[in-house]
Amino acid sequence: MAARSTVRYGAYPVLMAAVILGVAAAPWRDVPLAWLAGLVMAGLTAVALLERWFPFDPRWRQPDRDFPADVIHAVINLVVMHSAVLGFVVLRNWVGWQGMWWPNDWPYLAQVFMAGLPLDLSLYAVHRLSHRYGFLWRLHSIHHSSRRLYWLNGERRHPLHAALMAGPGLVVLGVLGAPAEVVGGWLAILAVHLAFQHSNFDYRAGPLRYLLGNLCTTPPTRSWRRVQGQYRFVGWDRNRC
Ligand SMILES: [Zn+2]
Repeated sequence: MAARSTVRYGAYPVLMAAVILGVAAAPWRDVPLAWLAGLVMAGLTAVALLERWFPFDPRWRQPDRDFPADVIHAVINLVVMHSAVLGFVVLRNWVGWQGMWWPNDWPYLAQVFMAGLPLDLSLYAVHRLSHRYGFLWRLHSIHHSSRRLYWLNGERRHPLHAALMAGPGLVVLGVLGAPAEVVGGWLAILAVHLAFQHSNFDYRAGPLRYLLGNLCTTPPTRSWRRVQGQYRFVGWDRNRC
């Protein structure tokens, strides 16, 4: 029982700390973006294994004919996000924009968290609007259409909606002059966090829940009605389950 509690409370901080440390090591890798992609794969695999061993609801371990569709969504969204990051760098180089201001002399990890601010605000704001306005909800509702929670749920998004959510933040980062490796670092951390948030893993965020947006989707409050809550990662707002 003690071992189970240790995993429930320890998995999120330990795994996220490992991912953040891995991201911090990216600048010393030959191909930083490939390193970050490998880090995301390792993080998602860990969450998938944890939810198999420690499920919140054992019934949700059974595939619901949703897996192939979610894999396709994940692949398309990965391509959309990577294209968006690379596209904004290519576009910036093409127009010769040097950037308004970016703290290139800061440690890499500090730059990554700096990039997270406009990106996270963008995701939060567009998500919130998507629960309010019909034309956005039509694109976003697919994200809430699953009948079970599991590690790949976070990627069930309409690609246009994924682009709309990240777009404003990427534009801000493009104007500021954030490097692609920095934006990629934040997206790697976010991908593993989202896998936790949408997983069937019976975990607790502990005191971190006050900083993170996990209250809605962290057991024991997790339920389909509550999953209709707001996106939140950095503390923009009180949770609105
Ligand atoms: Zn939503």
